[in-house]
Amino acid sequence: MRSHYCGDLRKEHIGEDITLTGWVHRRRDHGGVIFLDLRDREGLTQVVFDPDREESFTLADSCRSEYVVEVKGTVRGRPEGTVNPDMPTGEIEVLGKELVILNKSETPPFQLDEHQQVGEEVRLRHRYIDLRRPEMQEKLRFRSKVTNAIRSYMDEHGFLDIETPILNRATPEGARDYLVPSRVHEGHFFALPQSPQLFKQLLMVAGFDRYYQVAKCFRDEDLRADRQPEFTQIDIETSFMNEEEIMGITEKMIRKLFLELKGIDLGEFPRMPYSEAMQRFGSDKPDLRYPMELVDVADLMAEIEFKVFAGPAKDPKGRVAALKVPGGAQLTRKIIDEYTQFVSIYGAKGLAWIKVNELEKGVEGLQSPIVKFLGAEVAMAIMERLGAENGDIVFFGADKEKIVSEALGALRIKVGEDLEMAQCEWAPLWVVDFPMFEETDNGGLTALHHPFTAPSCTPEELKANPLEALSRAYDMVLNGCELGGGSIRIHNQEMQASVLDILGISDEEADDKFGFLLNALKYGAPPHGGLAFGLDRLIMLMTGTDSIREVIAFPKTQSSACMMTQAPGEVSAAQLRELNIKLRKTP
Ligand code: ASP
Repeated sequence: MRSHYCGDLRKEHIGEDITLTGWVHRRRDHGGVIFLDLRDREGLTQVVFDPDREESFTLADSCRSEYVVEVKGTVRGRPEGTVNPDMPTGEIEVLGKELVILNKSETPPFQLDEHQQVGEEVRLRHRYIDLRRPEMQEKLRFRSKVTNAIRSYMDEHGFLDIETPILNRATPEGARDYLVPSRVHEGHFFALPQSPQLFKQLLMVAGFDRYYQVAKCFRDEDLRADRQPEFTQIDIETSFMNEEEIMGITEKMIRKLFLELKGIDLGEFPRMPYSEAMQRFGSDKPDLRYPMELVDVADLMAEIEFKVFAGPAKDPKGRVAALKVPGGAQLTRKIIDEYTQFVSIYGAKGLAWIKVNELEKGVEGLQSPIVKFLGAEVAMAIMERLGAENGDIVFFGADKEKIVSEALGALRIKVGEDLEMAQCEWAPLWVVDFPMFEETDNGGLTALHHPFTAPSCTPEELKANPLEALSRAYDMVLNGCELGGGSIRIHNQEMQASVLDILGISDEEADDKFGFLLNALKYGAPPHGGLAFGLDRLIMLMTGTDSIREVIAFPKTQSSACMMTQAPGEVSAAQLRELNIKLRKTP
């Protein structure tokens, strides 16, 4: 039907007879002349209808927003003074000669350029209209470019795209599974994959050597702003490559994407051990755009009377840390109260602070509700350790280590954003040397990555001191976001059995849940490892978008529902009967 996309017309086309198809973005009546801004996926073009051509003029006059039309006409330069430099097609317009209305539209639930006035709910309910907006078209187009570039890169480096099943046994990424009842096997359920982890390992045992997949993954978690119950991973696995090689080849891919699609050179990614990241930044995905760091001060606080600090300072599982904010003394009481509220999300019971007003006056120059509890000597020793200067504010956290790190780590980013302290636009890094295990609340152990991750020690050392053991895992972090994570896997059955044993997984349970993997390890499993990138988050970062929903064509809401299709929905009694499912009445 069409000869050109609306958004592609330029000065070079002046004089050409063309045919456009698209949606009426806006209709304007300018004293006897009708203007239709016609839109397709490439952009907008202004079409003018003169009353001389009565038929098309009358039709144009009857058009409304979102009508679908076909226009035949001639491209001409815009008259002097009406050129629009803000529009890629702003130097030309089309003189409309024939118009066909291909389809009418009811008044849309919102005008595309008024999407902000309606809630996100309305936009999601009518996503097919929301997706007509140029910004949304651009984001999804960009997403397609990224997956395309990833596929080419993977292909060029010898990776095979192999699909793995969606109907599975439960997979071990530690989240809740989405379950699918089996009709044929009464009382049995499939689980949707939380990741293709075990299958990609089996592909290595099968000798495929390099695998990748643009894989849908499903995790039934309580959603935060940057999570979706179904999301896409760029899933990668390789054989006979060590962590350096895997990090190398995937870092090169991400750098190439940024360079080719955004013109940004991310440079070589620095490495940071997990323990250092937690200590200096209170996070295993530190945002290195902000210069501030957490500084431990427990040794200075252990002997003071003030229990709030002395308690955690003496507790081996406690932490007392300070965060100096240069220039922060200007923060008002109201803002400090907001920050106190903010850290409470992470379990902090309060937020102590000291404003550094006139350091030359010693402790007299410090303004704070807590200085009197610390005493002059301790307060000044802290100032010295932090290298505090007039105009700074120092925040404190004192509690269990995890609470202090998380609370001050998050505050560091919040304050950094609020005071616009970012020192660069992009800060990538690899976090390495993760612990193998962490303690659960009930005193047990859980794998920090997943139970198939190889430790960097022998099975004996692992058993002797599991909490000290490090793993061969690595995370790629960009601007405080985990872009991807992976590890070298265990390829030896004995080591795998030790890890499962330490995790308190009995032989029977292990055999029942992933006996197939344990078996496969007996038949010549090569050394292997890999990682997975979160595609949605990568696109979010690359397009500078705040919400993950904005880079997914048909996302779910915060409550894991689809506004448009109303999924999840009830099913008929007959379907339930067929599945041998009887719903329990909620009490
Ligand atoms: N399967 C892991 C995940 O989804 C990634 C990996 O270890 O390759 O986090």
